[in-house]
Amino acid sequence: MNISENKYGDLLGSEKIFKTISNVAGKIDQQAFVIGGYVRDQILKRETKDIDIVTLGSGIELAKKTAKVLNCSPVKIFKNFGTAMINVGEIEVQFVGARKESYRKNSRNPVVEDGTIEEDQNRRDFTINALAISLNKKDYGEFIDPFNGTQDLNEKVLKTPLDPDITFSDDPLRMMRAIRFSSQLDFNIESSTLKAIQKNADRISIVAQERITEELNKIILSDQPSKGFKLLEETGLLKLIFLEFQLLKGVDILEGKSHKDNFYHTLKVLDNILPYSKGNLWLRWAALLHDIAKPNTKRFNTKQGWTFHGHEDKGARMVPNIFRKLKLPLDHQMKYVQKLVLLHLRPISLTNESITDSALRRLLFEAGNDLEDLMTLCQSDITSKNKEKKIKYLNRFEQVKKKLRDLEDRDKIKNWQPPIGGKEIMETFNIKPCKEVGILKESIKNAILDGIIKNSYQEAYDYLLIKAKEIGIIEK
Ligand code: ATP
Ligand code: MG
Repeated sequence: MNISENKYGDLLGSEKIFKTISNVAGKIDQQAFVIGGYVRDQILKRETKDIDIVTLGSGIELAKKTAKVLNCSPVKIFKNFGTAMINVGEIEVQFVGARKESYRKNSRNPVVEDGTIEEDQNRRDFTINALAISLNKKDYGEFIDPFNGTQDLNEKVLKTPLDPDITFSDDPLRMMRAIRFSSQLDFNIESSTLKAIQKNADRISIVAQERITEELNKIILSDQPSKGFKLLEETGLLKLIFLEFQLLKGVDILEGKSHKDNFYHTLKVLDNILPYSKGNLWLRWAALLHDIAKPNTKRFNTKQGWTFHGHEDKGARMVPNIFRKLKLPLDHQMKYVQKLVLLHLRPISLTNESITDSALRRLLFEAGNDLEDLMTLCQSDITSKNKEKKIKYLNRFEQVKKKLRDLEDRDKIKNWQPPIGGKEIMETFNIKPCKEVGILKESIKNAILDGIIKNSYQEAYDYLLIKAKEIGIIEK
C-alpha cells in the first residue's frame, strides 16, 4: 500500500528529514524505514517529537551521514545498543540497525543479531507499534503492516504481534507499556493479551524500578489514569509494584456497618482532579496518596462504626518511604505531596464548625503557596453519591474559599514569617540554640495566628519578654 494513496493521507510530515535519510541511505545502499511510535501517532494525529528509523545495516553510519547533510551534528552514539541519535530542531531522530532478538529467562536484555525488517517488526511490543513506512527509492512511502496494526488502530485495540505470553515473558516492561498505552490512547487490551499479562505479572520483578515508575507516571499523567489503575489491579501488577495502593481495595462489614472502598474512592478523586492538574504530576500523586494510610488506621467501634483517625498524619509519614521505594524524587516535590496529604482534611473540617479567623489563618500559614492546590484536592475529595449532600458540601466549601481569600487580602499570611525569628531570640537573651528558642518562636507565631497580638514587631517583642519570663529564660 502506498502511503499517499491510503486514507491516512501523507504520513511523512517531516518531509525534509525523511527525504534526506532516503537519499543518504540510497547512496550507501542501505535500506531504511520509519517505524513504531511516529507512524502510530501520525495516524492517530497525535503530536510526536521522536522519530525512529530502522535500517538494514549500521544505524550509527546512517545517522552520521544524515547529520552531515542536515548540518545538525553532533550525533549522540550509544555504542552498546548500536544506536545513534540526532536532533533536528525540536525533533529527535533515533537510528538503529534492524535486529532480531532472543531472550534469556532472567534479563530484559536480549541477545541481539542483525535481522531483516520483518524480524525487526516481530520484536516490537504491539501491532500498532510495529507499523513501518519505507524510505527506499524503489517504494518510498510504502506502508509495511504485517500484523494488521492499522486495523487495530481503528478498532482501538492493543495486541502483541507474536504470542503474547512469550512477548511479555521476554520483556515484562511491555506489560506496563500495554496499560500505559491503554490509558493514554483509550485503547482496550485484547483478551488473550490481557490474560498473558495476568499470567506473567510476576515477571515484573526483573524490571528496573526506574522503568516501572516511568510508565506509572505516564499512566498518572494520561487522560485516563483510573483506567490504568484498574487494569494494574485486575492483572495483578498493582500489588507487585505498589502494594500500599492495592491495600486500599476492599470493604469490611461489621455489625451491618461498612465503609467505602478506598481504592475506588481514590480513583474517583483522581478523576475529579484531572481537569485541574493537566501536566501536574505531583498534584495527581497527592490525590493518589491522600488516603493511603486508611488501611493502617482503620478501627471499628459500635457507636461510630468505621473510623480512620489520624490517617492524614500517618499518610504524610508514609510518603517518603513510598517515594523511596518507587525511586521518585525525595526533594521539594515529595515535600509538596506530603504537605497536601497532611492537610487534606483541614479545609473540609472548617466547613463543619463555625469558622474562626484563627483557624483560617493557620491554614493559610501552613499551606502557603500550595493553598490553591490543597483546595482543589479537597474539592475533588467530595465524592458522595448523594446529590444534595454533595451540593451542600460544595457550597460550604465555596464559603470557606471566599473567607480565605478575604483574610489573605487583609492579613497576607500565605508567605508570612513571624516578625521575630530564632536568631534574634538567641541574641536578645544571649543563649545558644536550644529547645527554649523553638518554644519562644512558636509562641510568637501562634499568638499572632490566634489573634492574641497584632502582627507587629513591637507587640511580638513585648510578648516575647512575657513568655521568656514564664519559661524562666529571664528572671520574673
Ligand atoms: P512514546 O514515545 O509515547 O513513549 P513509543 O511507542 O514511541 O511511545 P518509544 O519508547 O519511543 O515508545 O519506542 C519506540 C518504538 O520502539 C515503539 O513504538 C516500539 O515499536 C518499540 N519499543 C519500545 N519499547 C519496546 C519494548 N519494551 N518492547 C518492544 N518494542 C519496544
Ligand atoms: Mg516514541
